[in-house]
Amino acid sequence: MAAYEYETHEYDVVVVGAGGAGLRATLGMAEQGLRTACVTKVFPTRSHTVAAQGGIAASLGNMGPDSWQWHMYDTVKGSDWLGDTDAMEYLAREAPKAVYELEHYGVPFSRTEEGKIYQRPFGGHTTEFGEGPPVQRTCAAADRTGHAILHTLYGQSLKQKAEFFIEYFAIDLIMSEDGTCQGVLCWKLDDGTLHLFSAKMTVLATGGYGRAYFSATSAHTCTGDGGGMVARAGLPLQDMEFVQFHPTGIYGAGCLITEGARGEGGYLTNSEGERFMERYAPTYKDLASRDVVSRCMTLEIREGRGVGKDSDHIHLNLSHLPPETLALRLPGISESARIFAGVDVTKEPVPVLPTVHYNMGGIPTNYWGEVLAPSDGKDDNVAPGLMAVGEAGCASVHGANRLGSNSLIDLVVFGRAAAIRAGEIVDPSTRVPEPNMRSVEMALARFDGLRHARGQVATAELRLEMQKTMQDDAAVFRTSETLAQGKDKMEDIAGKLSDVAVTDNTLIWNSDLMETLELANLMPNAVATVVAAEARKESRGAHAHEDFPDRDDENWRKHSLTWFRGDAMKADLGYRGVHVNPLTSHNDGGIDLKKIAPKARVY
Ligand SMILES: Cc1cc2nc3c(=O)[nH]c(=O)nc-3n(C[C@H](O)[C@H](O)[C@H](O)COP(=O)(O)OP(=O)(O)OC[C@H]3O[C@@H](n4cnc5c(N)ncnc54)[C@H](O)[C@@H]3O)c2cc1C
Repeated sequence: MAAYEYETHEYDVVVVGAGGAGLRATLGMAEQGLRTACVTKVFPTRSHTVAAQGGIAASLGNMGPDSWQWHMYDTVKGSDWLGDTDAMEYLAREAPKAVYELEHYGVPFSRTEEGKIYQRPFGGHTTEFGEGPPVQRTCAAADRTGHAILHTLYGQSLKQKAEFFIEYFAIDLIMSEDGTCQGVLCWKLDDGTLHLFSAKMTVLATGGYGRAYFSATSAHTCTGDGGGMVARAGLPLQDMEFVQFHPTGIYGAGCLITEGARGEGGYLTNSEGERFMERYAPTYKDLASRDVVSRCMTLEIREGRGVGKDSDHIHLNLSHLPPETLALRLPGISESARIFAGVDVTKEPVPVLPTVHYNMGGIPTNYWGEVLAPSDGKDDNVAPGLMAVGEAGCASVHGANRLGSNSLIDLVVFGRAAAIRAGEIVDPSTRVPEPNMRSVEMALARFDGLRHARGQVATAELRLEMQKTMQDDAAVFRTSETLAQGKDKMEDIAGKLSDVAVTDNTLIWNSDLMETLELANLMPNAVATVVAAEARKESRGAHAHEDFPDRDDENWRKHSLTWFRGDAMKADLGYRGVHVNPLTSHNDGGIDLKKIAPKARVY
């Protein structure tokens, strides 16, 4: 192995990732006087959060009655009773506070006539514990909410003197022999130097792994790097079988048309021009939750009622909406439809198809963002020195299915919670611990191995094979057969990583090597997804198993855990109990447990 030199940086906290979650955590840490570094492989405001359109959920009640208990109920039901109840209560309760904080930091929300934050309806968000009409709970800055949040949080973080290390690629976590995280080794992409960030607390905010699939709404940078690093550190990933397909990706291109389009009155039709959602979800129709709408669309296409010359997609109709609404509330998607589908939304329907959009699974944490390292029956053991927030984490508030606009609120609520917790447990007056040199050397050796990989398979070829397999075998509908096949194929494909070829071994702007590191991170995420899906013999949320069409709470109301031990690409499975108790009792103003008891999930 070549000898590598690296520069060492010492901080109280190092945050990996500068999306909504990473920036909110960075800002909160810095506000409390913790010396904080934020490393990110792309410029902060280019993180995938910038693409979030529709909005951020909080029960402000600006447009009509709402309460955090109703928001919590909807989240519990949306999760198909797999979310952790304490975390879901924390999310719904803290959401209004977190949104007002964003407002005060300067997020330019759209406004009502009276000057309040504008809120729109979104799928699965209701009133009266699912008995009342849809609620307007999703706070929006037109259809560019993520963009507005990201820019505001970046500015505020700079004001608080957080230090940014931009276009630094995190390679691996540095772990002590006793399993404490001590920081992260990074590669500076523009000059090829290596950097060791030693810290008392490391926060993974690396986003999702949508790019394990062929067609995804997420950015090409969403490669599950945090999950890859955690898997290599011997820690588990949780609930990876639950992958959300968004009903309205633009047919062919995959880019997103926000659910806000249906929130503003858009609706889906089949080849007969029928508003088919009225048949499947009589109450909430096109605003049923995402897994439900995606399945109904897939059924319509399968039964021969798809649109287009191959009858293989569905129409989203917006042309009946007033042009002012389209211009004011949905300007971005009007533009996307024009560019990517060649459609004028004021005149024609948009061709759409369910597209991979969000990963409910991720690095398991408690509701303070502390990473869980379950062992010997102790489900809630914490891995010292390590936190995970945002889409990379799994708190778990989305369980088996996330409601629209509940991710942006998850980013800021748990980014903030992680900062509050770090303020309690990180002591700025102590020295940063010496890094475990064995761990540093292992990280360098893996980097060097990939840099000089001279196998038979090109990175792009292997990535395509993985993406196609995931798209075919871990899709909207799953069967025992497709899953068994997917598992075998994915283990085989992952095995080929050892035969990958990197043609460029320089260290400056080497996109070949960077994409190979990303592929090596995507792989355990993908394998965990099919392995956990193959094992789960029920249907719940986004996991629709045709051979086991019902939810089975008795046997399967539990989180799956996937470890990669020894042979890097073979996954071991385990399970952890769902937290069924809320944070506060009904007598203390908490939710009535009877209200959130499991029942059939109909919209
Ligand atoms: C098109 C689209 C629209 C959406 N709309 C909405 C919406 O309206 N409402 C809603 O609630 N949710 C929405 N979502 C979901 C939501 O936007 C995402 O779940 C969320 O933005 C993820 O944020 P994050 O901070 O976890 O990660 P990201 O924003 O993906 O950021 C990840 C960060 O990690 C960094 N990073 C990753 N790997 C490394 C590495 N190895 N080294 C260094 N840095 C690294 C990246 O540079 C980046 O800064 C949408 C998602 C998409 C794809």
